[in-house]
This record gives sequence, structure tokens and C-alpha cells, in this order.
Amino acid sequence: MSDLAAFAAGLAAGSIRVVDLTSPLSSETPILQLPEEFGQTERFQLHEISRYDDRGPAWYWNNFTTGEHTGTHFDAPVHWVTGTDEDVASVPPERLVGPAAVIDCVDRVADDPDFLLEVDDIRAWESDHGALPEGGWLLVRSGWHAHAGSQEEFLNADEDGSHTPGLSPECARWLAEESPVIGLGVETVGTDAGAAPTFDPMFPCHSLMHGAGKYGLTQLRNLDQLPPVGAVLVASPLKIVGGSGSPVRVLAFVE
Ligand code: MN
Repeated sequence: MSDLAAFAAGLAAGSIRVVDLTSPLSSETPILQLPEEFGQTERFQLHEISRYDDRGPAWYWNNFTTGEHTGTHFDAPVHWVTGTDEDVASVPPERLVGPAAVIDCVDRVADDPDFLLEVDDIRAWESDHGALPEGGWLLVRSGWHAHAGSQEEFLNADEDGSHTPGLSPECARWLAEESPVIGLGVETVGTDAGAAPTFDPMFPCHSLMHGAGKYGLTQLRNLDQLPPVGAVLVASPLKIVGGSGSPVRVLAFVE
């Protein structure tokens, strides 16, 4: 049997499952909020064109407006000033499919919403599960998706800023410059920790990962249904010409 025939047989038999890692995209989807002196991203919004009515008797359809970086979305290298000019339409399709490593930080984030993943945590994970996958993704399972029902809870901000988990600057640098993965996936509103505006460099996951030509995925969920190793991830952003990012449907194949 060919590899693809075996894959199709596995899907049909249920020995390979498809897990949807995407959060629902609606006007309720929480969005990033920057300090008010900066431009702001928009919520997702449907605008009805017709619904089996005098505007279109047999059809229902909508226009929609959204920020590129709204909901579960893909960050392309051109998003950041340090990045290459690779926009979301230019990402090679081979780089949209790859192995996923999942690191579980749920308990530590439950104790500390400002939890930062360190290189040593990834080293410890690697001693249990092997090296991070070449050309693959590191997915950080924080449990933060549980807060996605409320903008306020999801951003978890006070006068000191947002309190959400992420990577330390050193860990972001290692992931960008030394690890073999091509992307970082998280459950939070962006790939960086809530405190990242105060880090050096500022927003290190964006600055260093995009600087290295790597990618980001945000607002993932259902990471609890993935094994630490062995899942294959498919990320399919819209092919927006010149786009810095795009809402994305993220699926994982799991044996
Ligand atoms: Mn983004």
C-alpha cells in the first residue's frame, strides 16, 4: 500500500483522528488590545448580503470584516520589523504541514498566569520525548483557552498590563536561532507573554522568531487531545497577498 493509501485507510478506519485546534471565529472572539496611542485590530464581523429574501431569494451569504490577527491566526515573518518580507501568501505550502511537539504547562500556568517557559523546560521535555522536530512546530499547552469566553479574562490585564503565559526572552531566542522547529503555537491572544512589552527585546517571540523567518500560531485549543510527539499539524491561513497574517484553520492528525 502507498503511504497515502495507508493514510486514507487510517482515516476511514478511525485509527487516525482529525483534531480541530481552531477557536470559533465570531464577533465574540477576544482580540489583542494595544495601548491607545497605537492602531488597533478589529473584531471579526459578519455583514449579511442576503438570506433567502428579496436581496437574494435562494441564497444566504455574507461579507465579513476582520483583523488579520483576530482569533486563531497565523503570523508571517513580514508581521515584524525584524522579519523578512515573506507575507502570508508566500509561505511555501510544505511549511504549512509538519510534525507537532506539545509541551504541557497547564499546572504551572494555573499557579502563575505570568508563567514563562524556559530553555531548561524544553530540554527536560526533550530528555523524555526526543529532540524537537525538524521543520515542525512547538505547541505550548497552557490551558489558557479556557479563558477565551471573555475578553477581560483572556487578556487578564490590570494597571501593570496583561498577565498571560509565554516564553522567556532566552527561550524565544533559543527556539528562533537554535531549535529545528519552524513555528511556535500558543493558546493565548498572541505568541508573546502578556509581560512581553517590558522584555528585552520587546515581544521576543515576534522579534526573534520572525527575524529567523519562523511562524506563529495563536488561540489554539484542544491541545489536550494531542500526544507530546507524533501528531502532524496542518495550518491553512488565507492566501492574502501582502498579508502579515491571517485567520487560520489548524488541524492535527493523531494516531
Ligand atoms: Mn498575530
